[in-house]
Amino acid sequence: MTMEPLKNYIDAAWCAPREGQYLDNYRPRTGQVYGQIPDSGPDDIDQAVAAAMRAFPKWKATSRAERSALLLKIAAGLEQRLDAFAEAESEDQGKPLQLARHMDIPRAIDNFRFFAGAILHQEERAFATHDLAFNYTRREPIGVAGLISPWNLPLYLLTWKIAPALATGNTVVAKPSELTSVTAHLLTEVMHAAGLPPGVCNIVYGRGARAGDALVAHPDVPLLSFTGGTATAALIGQRAAPFYKKLSLELGGKNPALIFKDCDLEAALATTLRSSMLNQGEICLCTSRIFVEDELYPKFVERFVKLVQDLKVGDPREPHQFMGALVSQAHRSKVHSFVERARAEGLTVLCGGAPLSLEGDLQGGYYYQPTVVAAPHSKFEIMQQEVFGPVVTVTPFRSFEDAISQANSTRYGLAATVWTQNIHTAHRAAAALDAGQVWVNTWMLRDLRVPFGGMKDSGVGREGGVDSLDFFTEQKNICLLLTAATD
Ligand code: NDP
Repeated sequence: MTMEPLKNYIDAAWCAPREGQYLDNYRPRTGQVYGQIPDSGPDDIDQAVAAAMRAFPKWKATSRAERSALLLKIAAGLEQRLDAFAEAESEDQGKPLQLARHMDIPRAIDNFRFFAGAILHQEERAFATHDLAFNYTRREPIGVAGLISPWNLPLYLLTWKIAPALATGNTVVAKPSELTSVTAHLLTEVMHAAGLPPGVCNIVYGRGARAGDALVAHPDVPLLSFTGGTATAALIGQRAAPFYKKLSLELGGKNPALIFKDCDLEAALATTLRSSMLNQGEICLCTSRIFVEDELYPKFVERFVKLVQDLKVGDPREPHQFMGALVSQAHRSKVHSFVERARAEGLTVLCGGAPLSLEGDLQGGYYYQPTVVAAPHSKFEIMQQEVFGPVVTVTPFRSFEDAISQANSTRYGLAATVWTQNIHTAHRAAAALDAGQVWVNTWMLRDLRVPFGGMKDSGVGREGGVDSLDFFTEQKNICLLLTAATD
């Protein structure tokens, strides 16, 4: 079954792209084209930015309570259509339907609920300057926020940006990944039904290098929140610099898991399996390098490989499927090329290591075997570059210092996990790791109040909780003289 071509959502109307060009949209489960999305260009972005600029003064003037109520309505609308959203996300991205139903869509709903509450509790600062003056600091919305999101957690990451941008009184032009635009379209229906005023949130579909670039370089878009690859972010930085735009960049990772010999082995195995392979390994926070203390290494690897071999991979619609299809043919080829080069460098593939062919209508789907590669040290390409697929390396370490030095040996610094029952080891490792977030004896446990972002090439800035409210607002200090001026 094919879908109607999607339309851009601009000024509360669904409209065809100005030049009438479309891109094929593929269903990863089967590899077949099942719809089309607008191949929007600079004219469409201009139109969306103009609508967002017109809407800004009125939206900015709404009260926090009004904006909060609208976000809650959007959350309720999403919740009502949870099943339809989950099905669309799975079809468009390739992920298991159950994962979309239990993780992606509920977390998107939480994003709206959380920022609906957070905006009511946002604090502003005041300073008494002796008895001479009184300073107070307003946090004001900035204008049209340009939001660019990736394909791995499409609705979840898009709403992570839209919710705080709207809550703080900005208007929005968003561009989702061209590979996964369908749930963004469903979101426009929910926002429309909730009564979001025209122009407040506009969504334009298309390629990053065209529509995305036009948004990034638009002079009337003063702030950009981008989640995606490190190389794309470098281009965005260059394009945004002449305009002094405010930038938040959430980028790639090469996340280590440090498994000390005193860990709870069962918990470490079960969670590291999930942290390496969930969502086909296509989560920026996924573990991609496992370091195990040498005494435990043989036992850990033997059991881990067995667990990986037993993972269920296949039709994302099946209820107990752990892994579905990768997002695209091109991405699967990229993942496989990393494994082939690792083999050529002499590394041993302990399991997996090849595309997976299924039968029937799944024959053309982009499936890949979950893969474990043994790497004796960290110098290999597969230990340095982000693969972003169901591929993880295992490496022994000799000492605490060796573990930290190997873990920190990449240009990335997004996340890390530490497995130990020794509280001192946990704190020492957490302090020594180059990572924006460190999980101890757990992974991806979510609290929307905490700062989220990466060190080194994994990002610039933090989002989440107060940090999102700060990013989407500008501070203005007002100083009032309390007494008559004296010399
Ligand atoms: P990309 O960088 O390729 O794309 C991200 C978004 O940017 C897409 O919407 C893309 O559009 C758009 N884009 C591409 N080129 C440009 C450009 N020149 N100007 C403006 N926009 C552009 O990343 P992926 O979509 O491949 O996502 C995977 C990456 O995202 C991984 O590196 C992953 O680690 C990272 N990521 C980081 C997270 C974090 O929070 N730190 C979370 C999730 C993912 P299009 O797709 O249409 O080309």
